Order: sequence, then C-alpha cells, then structure tokens
Amino acid sequence: MAMIPLNSLVLSGKRVLVRCDFNVPLKSGAIADPARIDASMDTIRYILGQGGCAVLCSHLGRPKERSPELSLRPVAQYLSTMLGLKVALAPDCVGEVTLAKIESLAPGEALLLENLRFHPEEEKNDADFAHELARGKQVYVNDAFGTAHRAHASTVGVVRFVAQRAPGFLMMRELEALRSFTQNPSRPYVAILGGAKVSDKIALLKNLVTKVDTLLIGGAMAYTFLRAQGKPVGNSRVEEDKIAVAGELLAEAARRSVTVALPIDHVVANSPDDEASARVVDEIADGLMGLDIGPRTVAAFIAAVSESRTAIWNGPLGYFERPAFSQGTLKVGEALAGRSETRSLIGGGDTAAALSGKPWSHNFTHVSTGGGATLEYLEGRELPGVKALEV
Ligand code: AMP
Repeated sequence: MAMIPLNSLVLSGKRVLVRCDFNVPLKSGAIADPARIDASMDTIRYILGQGGCAVLCSHLGRPKERSPELSLRPVAQYLSTMLGLKVALAPDCVGEVTLAKIESLAPGEALLLENLRFHPEEEKNDADFAHELARGKQVYVNDAFGTAHRAHASTVGVVRFVAQRAPGFLMMRELEALRSFTQNPSRPYVAILGGAKVSDKIALLKNLVTKVDTLLIGGAMAYTFLRAQGKPVGNSRVEEDKIAVAGELLAEAARRSVTVALPIDHVVANSPDDEASARVVDEIADGLMGLDIGPRTVAAFIAAVSESRTAIWNGPLGYFERPAFSQGTLKVGEALAGRSETRSLIGGGDTAAALSGKPWSHNFTHVSTGGGATLEYLEGRELPGVKALEV
C-alpha cells in the first residue's frame, strides 16, 4: 500500500491539519529541549511556502483534563520565533471559537491548536471527536512519528473525515531510515539491547532473533538472562516471571546460530544511589547490584560492533543517569559512532538520551525521534498512524 507524497499535493489556499509531536520536556514552564519541534520545521515551512494554512496540533504530557501547566503556549511562542511570523494558540483543539480562527487564516499563516489530550476522547480514538477535529480542513498531514504507534483520534480516527492525507517529511525520513535498516541489512547484523525490563523487550527479541547475527545484551535486563543460565546476580534487578522466557530466547538463538553475548563482568554497587561503592567484579556477590557492564564486557561488545556492517541499538547498557554506571553505554556508543563502515540506528527515548551530547553523537547513521514507535516498528508490527496514511 502506498502513501501520497506531501510534495505532490496542491496546498495553496487549503487548510492543512498537521499532526506534530510537540511533546517537549518542560522545565518551570519553559521548553527544556526543542528538538521535537525542530524536527518538524521543514514540513511546516513547506506547507506555508506552498500557500497552505497550517493548523498545527499535538499532545503534550499526559493530562487527565484541561491543565494550564500542560498548555502548548510555550510551543506557540517558540514556533513564532522560528518561523518569523505570529503563530497564535487557539483556546482549544475543537469548537466554534477555534473553527472561526481556522477559517480566518490567510494562505501562509499558521495556528496552533491547544493540547489534544485536554480531551479524553483523543486517546479513545472517539469518532465524534475525530470528526470535530477534521472540521474545516481539506488536507491532513501526519508528521508525529513518535505517536504513530498509537491509534488516537488525531493519528487514525481523523483521517477518514479529511479529503486528502500525506505523511510529513519527518515521518517519511523516519520510515525510510527504519526500512533501510530492516530490509536486506548488510551483514554481520548486530543488535545491542539494554534497558530496565525484559518484559518490555520480549517482542523485540523474538523478532530480532530471526533477523540478526549477533545479540549483545546489557542493562538491567541482562540479569534475568544470566539467572536463566544459573549465574549469580546478587541483588540485581531480575524479573522472576520472565526467567523462563529468557531461557527460551537463548535456546532459540542457539538453534538459529545467533551469537548472544551477555555481560562477563559488571560494575556493581551496594545500591543505585551509592556511586561511591562502585567497583568491577566478574561474579556478583550477594547483596550487590549490577548497574553497568564491566570493562571486559565492553571490550567484547566493541569487538562485535567492530566487525558489524549494520547495528541497531535499543536500551542503555547500564544505569546511565549516574556517571559511575554510564561508561559501558558511552564506550560502546563511541566505538559504534566511530565505525564509518557500520550503518547504525539508535532507537529513540532513553537510548538516544544516553548517547547524546558527546562530540561523536552526530556520527550515527540515524537517531530515531520515536521511542515506543521505533520499538514497535523493530518488533515487526504495523504502526496504526502509518497504516492510516495509506491510500
Ligand atoms: P528502558 O526504558 O527499558 O530502555 O530502560 C531504560 C532505563 O533502564 C534507564 O533509566 C536506565 O538507567 C535503566 N537501567 C539500565 N541498566 C540498568 C541496571 N543495570 N540497573 C538499573 N537500571 C538500569
């Protein structure tokens, strides 16, 4: 099934509803990191440049009801500065007052609708709400890749009430990048997996074990795998009810001749808050907690990465928020970033955060802006927000 490219639509004089991902982190009411807004600027500029009237919408945070601290007002101000034109904030995303504002837009003007999630109907994909959201618009553009795994009114329901639909440029970039990694990857193909929980990554592991040559497993989830192998893990985080499935995944990898590397040494501490007690061990004694991969594991992971042609990464390899437990993630990250021969894909969310802000952070082939959406794509699932754009 195909999607109509945005640049093949006639936008002049049309009212274009643009679903963006403006779910930016806020600190004391100000935007702490505008990266998600910046990522959609070329889509917005293109629509305005074509003489379209851009009606921008997004969710922000997880409000249960209308809450002033989750207003998109700071985003409207940021957009006004970036675009060099006044982007007003409508008082709501639906309703007569907002509709009148939309109808008064001239070609090349933009309006930002207030937080979609002030209405619980948004997440319920309520048909009446979706219909309301579509009122007065002739084109729908979805640039919110980070929300494409959610079937909400603004990502799915709205589509059937608008005459034309297209993906935005960010959505296209993300999908093309992910497709290029998952279809015919150059080999060896390595997956680096970490993060807090095995339970979040089972579907991903089940899919990747059929695709990759090597799985490098770190982070807290590695301890459930080590337990499945009967290794001592002390007080490390283990999901008792996932030990069996971890064992099955290891057996499946062996059947498929997929190499699995688990930590062979560890940075341990008395507790996650006790960085002063951090030290390297080969075996985790009772009472201690594994919080990062150790230097021998780092060397083994780097060796695997250095032979790879394709690498995808989801989940930090340690409790990276604390400097004492961030080295595993950073050293493997630096080695991967330095590999010009390896196409590298960094999943969004925590992984992107853990690997950002370093001199080498820009050297990965693609850093995804989607956390959950990227994860679900790599699990081999269809993203409802993408499916809805097909014609
Ligand atoms: P996830 O969202 O599943 O990718 O998990 C990311 C979180 O896992 C981050 O907050 C990491 O600090 C945390 N994490 C990774 N490794 C460990 C570990 N060994 N012990 C505790 N937390 C960890």
